[in-house]
Amino acid sequence: MSDPKLISKIPEGPLKDKWSKRKAEIRIVSPNNKRKLEVIVVGTGLGGASAAASLGEMGYNVKIFCISDSPRRAHSIAAQGGINAAKNYQNDNDSIYRLFYDTIKGGDYRSREANVYRLAEVSASIIDQCVAQGVPFAREYGGYLANRSFGGVQVSRTFYARGQTGQQLLLGAYASLNKEIANGTVKSYPRHEMLDLVIINGEAKGIIARNLVTGEIERFGAHAVVLATGGYGNTYFLSTNAMNSNGSAAMQAYRKGAFFANPCFAQIHPTCIPVHGDQQCKLTLMSESLRNDGRIWVPKKMEDVLKLRKHEIKASQIPEEDRDYYLERRYPAFGNLVPRDVASRAAKERCDAGFGVNETGLAVFLDFADAIKRLGHQRVQERYGNLFDMYEKITSSSPWEEPMMIYPAIHYTMGGLWVDYDLQTTIPGLYAIGEANFSDHGGNRLGASALMQGLADGYFILPYTIGDYLSHKFAEPKTDTNAPEFDAAEKAVKERIAKIFAVKGTETVDSIHKKLGHIMWEYVGMARNEAGLKKGIEEIGKLREEFWKNVRVPGTNEEFNQELEKALRLVDFFDIGELMARDALHRKESCGGHFREEMQTEEGETKRDDVNFMYVGAWEYKGEGKEPELHKEDLKYENIKIATRNYKD
Ligand SMILES: Cc1cc2nc3c(=O)[nH]c(=O)nc-3n(C[C@H](O)[C@H](O)[C@H](O)COP(=O)(O)OP(=O)(O)OC[C@H]3O[C@@H](n4cnc5c(N)ncnc54)[C@H](O)[C@@H]3O)c2cc1C
Repeated sequence: MSDPKLISKIPEGPLKDKWSKRKAEIRIVSPNNKRKLEVIVVGTGLGGASAAASLGEMGYNVKIFCISDSPRRAHSIAAQGGINAAKNYQNDNDSIYRLFYDTIKGGDYRSREANVYRLAEVSASIIDQCVAQGVPFAREYGGYLANRSFGGVQVSRTFYARGQTGQQLLLGAYASLNKEIANGTVKSYPRHEMLDLVIINGEAKGIIARNLVTGEIERFGAHAVVLATGGYGNTYFLSTNAMNSNGSAAMQAYRKGAFFANPCFAQIHPTCIPVHGDQQCKLTLMSESLRNDGRIWVPKKMEDVLKLRKHEIKASQIPEEDRDYYLERRYPAFGNLVPRDVASRAAKERCDAGFGVNETGLAVFLDFADAIKRLGHQRVQERYGNLFDMYEKITSSSPWEEPMMIYPAIHYTMGGLWVDYDLQTTIPGLYAIGEANFSDHGGNRLGASALMQGLADGYFILPYTIGDYLSHKFAEPKTDTNAPEFDAAEKAVKERIAKIFAVKGTETVDSIHKKLGHIMWEYVGMARNEAGLKKGIEEIGKLREEFWKNVRVPGTNEEFNQELEKALRLVDFFDIGELMARDALHRKESCGGHFREEMQTEEGETKRDDVNFMYVGAWEYKGEGKEPELHKEDLKYENIKIATRNYKD
């Protein structure tokens, strides 16, 4: 039985009718009443921009906030590979059910059936909407939209715009958003960072934000608040995420009563450019789309590995029979297109066994020689040209001549704020969408499904479901930002900032954050165990103390001060890191990206424990320094056979 505090509001009835049923039940706000209602949307990535544009078009008064100087610079712009949709354009027997099935299986049976089915159901509409906006998806000769494959599936359902899909989708959403800004329904606040959530009578009623240019602490009120603030992958310091990505808004909500679900489910992406030095602050993803045609391998012979490391031979000189295409060997049915968690662990296994191909021993090859022979230079250039250029610019090695070197890196977080079927958190009036929520990807997200989820949430789900809440609110006056709750929240924010300046230590924020990253990678990384997780929690605690004793943040609040911004975010990363470790410690099973070394098969595959852990773990904040409380939402699979994930046959 699920915890009574976690009411998922999944509609009764057959799976395929649930969303229609819910939409039919949802109360609608009439156009003249929509004009009286205000909604705050924090975040302008694909989730936030699409939601704000849709809500504005519907007639609500929307205020939208972001850290960057323009909404269109959100992290979503970095997405390269594509967006999934069950259109079956390739006539390869794709369907809503198959997308649903692949997503549940890919997530290792730790996501909600009803949410995932709805995601698959609305996926086709997303493509139609984006095409209508003018998003330049790749097309076939005859004019149909082109598709490619991503990991964990056996059909081609990924729509793409070269290696810039996120950018093109975001430009589409941004254009729609701008239309609403021009119409006056959306007011945009770039360079404003939310630093607290304001709750009045148990409901979300506004935010406190810092104007990042002037340092002014400002108050904003609304009838409801939507968080579209992205994931918390940067807890690890080095990740593929944008430098500004952070988990602070989610943590502020958590401290005000929103439950945080499955924090330990973090995704490690197999195809990133390996770490190459101590001074690095960012990792670069090489898109998963490359695994459509690229083949992953390491040498079979240790002598070749050693020669490679000494630069005595090149990869291309190693004969075919001396190469170990380990994914094709271990997973014949899916080969190089196994899901990310599986591919990442397999790379780690080969490198741990000593077969890593660069100086650090932490790299494997991604090779296009066969693809170039098979497809020709021009086709490969059309498909991956910009990714090849990017790789060459960073590494000075041309993928046309030698294979790329890749290694797993932190990329995405499946955990996030717990939301019900309406995408509402445990705080009434507070919604979470996109990567900021936990909803659809279980223990592991399939490639090209984050863009799908962000746009599904923003264009097609939240704009309806939030109406149900707002339909009870139009008679309420506008939120009074002079209310004592705003006073208290603003005071707390100002005190937090003053406390950071008061430390006056000697260490930079980045140097402490880097240490946190090392702790996270070591103890809460690709493989976890009980002793390591306990040690990780201890180390995070010590580092937090070090921060409060020795951090140095120069300048003042009353100016553009990125050191202060980073320090405020790092305070939250400590808490997220600890929560991740705590969640990982309690989840004594291996599933998806969460690999507990104690729970593995003889072949080194994940060993789930469906009897004891088939639930969403949602954590409730209990106060500073106190242990959070775990609540469980049971997961029921009535429309899909629960099985051990198998990508071998
Ligand atoms: C390199 C890379 C490539 C990827 N490629 C793909 C792909 O091909 N396909 C796919 O499906 N997924 C991909 N992903 C994942 C996908 O890009 C993200 O999951 C998705 O874009 C997240 O969108 P979002 O709207 O939830 O949040 P984001 O795009 O992260 O936007 C967050 C927004 O919140 C704002 N914000 C955050 N905190 C605050 C605050 N406190 N106050 C005010 N504003 C705040 C930010 O300024 C920003 O506007 C990729 C990810 C990476 C890192």
